[in-house]
Amino acid sequence: MMTIQQLLAFALSQGINALDAEVLLAHLLEKNRAYLYTWPDATVRPNIVAHYQNDLNRRAVGEPIAYILGYKEFWSMPIAVTSDTLIPRADTECWIQWLLERFADKQALRVLELGTGSGAIALALAHEKPQWAICAVDCSEAALVVAMQNAKTLGCPQIEWLHSDWYQALSGRVFDLIVANPPYIAEDEPHWKEGDLRFEPKTALVAAGNGLKDLRHIIQRAPHYLASSGLLLVEHGYLQGSAVTAVFNAAGFKAIQTYSDYGRRPRWTVGDWGFVDRPN
Ligand code: GLN
Repeated sequence: MMTIQQLLAFALSQGINALDAEVLLAHLLEKNRAYLYTWPDATVRPNIVAHYQNDLNRRAVGEPIAYILGYKEFWSMPIAVTSDTLIPRADTECWIQWLLERFADKQALRVLELGTGSGAIALALAHEKPQWAICAVDCSEAALVVAMQNAKTLGCPQIEWLHSDWYQALSGRVFDLIVANPPYIAEDEPHWKEGDLRFEPKTALVAAGNGLKDLRHIIQRAPHYLASSGLLLVEHGYLQGSAVTAVFNAAGFKAIQTYSDYGRRPRWTVGDWGFVDRPN
């Protein structure tokens, strides 16, 4: 029988970092990490050891911890993720916080989230503002299955989930707020081929046109789906602020502003749709 201490030492000998090993073992034991230090000599059941070994093998080839655990903590909620969904990032929590402050006094709001993936953004908004009418779409049916399961587990029945390639299934719909964290990494940027990103769906990460193709489409088409005085918010790469601002400008948005994430990198841009008449 192996002890907790031996299992953690074994992981280190396999080149797994200590924190990863602790998180994986604690999860299998259904305990927190402090438990591992409190009971280093406790023996671990063989079926758990086998599972742990399997998890270490997955981690050893670079699979993200979130996929191995099957969830990622986002907005203090355990969001189930699979290889069909992007792993939600803390940078995104940053603009959710900003939105909640901006719309703090709004009792009713029609919200659209484009490219919802695991549903993390829609779920965070629904959790904070249960009375808002939130519609979340994705072009991946597999991702929608994960998102709808999350809604069930987290008790957010009010979100409307739609299978839609960006606005494709939304003709005639109008929203007060549209948000999106679309793919925005350029094909020739190396970092999506490295580390954890290798395991994430390429369609959720990489976009043509220097990473701007989907951002352009989302911004240019948004006026058709925004109420007068509606707001569009998009997340983007930290070097894309001025390019994205130019697209907002050309599309006729007002009060365009780019904000930075927790790492002080320009990460999202908003624009007001201030016209009473909507374009054709
Ligand atoms: N922020 C992610 C990254 O660079 C990319 C997410 C996205 O393309 N929407 O790791």
